[in-house]
Parts: sequence; C-alpha cells; structure tokens
Amino acid sequence: MTWAAGDVLLLRYRGVDGDPIGARALRVVADLGDYVAGWLAPGSVIFDPVLPDGRRPREATVEEWITHGFRPAPRTWQGDGILKLIPRAGAHSVWLFWSGEAFAGWYVNLETRHRPIPGGVETTDQFLDAWVEPDRRWRWKDEADFAVAVAKGTFSPGEARAIREEGERVTSAAASGALPFAAEWTTWRPDPDWAPAAVPADWASR
Ligand code: MG
Repeated sequence: MTWAAGDVLLLRYRGVDGDPIGARALRVVADLGDYVAGWLAPGSVIFDPVLPDGRRPREATVEEWITHGFRPAPRTWQGDGILKLIPRAGAHSVWLFWSGEAFAGWYVNLETRHRPIPGGVETTDQFLDAWVEPDRRWRWKDEADFAVAVAKGTFSPGEARAIREEGERVTSAAASGALPFAAEWTTWRPDPDWAPAAVPADWASR
C-alpha cells in the first residue's frame, strides 16, 4: 500500500498474547519508500496498554505484565508530538522527538514486522529499545525488562538474538545519516493547522 500526505494511518499494537492493546492514528507526512513518515499530534486520543487494574506498564513489574497481560485504555497524548517512521520491511519503528523546537533524538522501538490491516498496519512490541542522541551516539534502553521477558520465556533465545540483531542493524545506520536517521527530518516541523487524527472506533476489530 502506498500513502499520500494527509492520509490517516492506523498503527495498532497487539500484545505478545495476540490481543489488541494499543492504537494511535498518524497523519501521513510523506511516503518515503522504505519508510512512511506519520505525525502523532499533541492532543491526539490514543489507546495505550494498561494492566487489568488500570496501572500503566511503568507502574508495574515485567513479571506483572507477563502474568496479567494488558488491556487498551484511551488517553490524550500530551506535550510535543512525535514523528514516526514506519518501515515497509524491518522489525522496528523509529520515533523522532522534539523538546519545543529542539530536536531531542530518535527512539528505536523494536517491534515485529508490520502487517497490513485496513487503513494501517499492526505490530507487536518486543520490549527492547534503543535511543539515538542528536549527535548520533546510541545506547540500549529497557535491557533489564527485556532480560526478564527472555528469562520468563516471552521470547525464545533465538527470538531474543534476532531482536537484538535488529536493534544493532538499525542503529548502525545512525552515523551514516541515511534513513531513518536522515538529518532533513530532524528539522521538520508539522503544519500548525493540522488537527489530531482520530483512531477509528473499530480499531481493535478491523
Ligand atoms: Mg519498545
């Protein structure tokens, strides 16, 4: 599927058990071929995973995530927006953050290869992440969470190896300045008139 500027792209997350647990609607900025660039505007209503008792993942342990699973809960995205680069191939997505007008860095979210769904794509978060500074140095994030998930069998040793290799493969491009780390996107700014895109009501079942 190709995307046109202005389209709304539904990004849906399934949990490791397969249930839909998250969604966000992105305003397509450009179809770059290997990546689609989509903007998550401040004020967007998104669905994020929470524990059955309503706690957010950061308020619970990884053991609790695995034992109880997640359900989706709506909330309004606050603060600065995020530009998400969604790959056509590759088990990750890359999120550009700003703090006010200053580019803050790239978050590499390791997640399964995207599968098409009506009006968007879906994927499953794989717990391990990387952060790339504006000067292009990078480091792992959430390695301890990932290690617990591997120890608990959420990911097999082979899957864990592949996830880590994908992170190394993607971040190795950071120094080159090629996509998804192209400098031109670090100075991109959204049209201030854009309204937040809405997650469709049937997001979990489409
Ligand atoms: Mg992640």
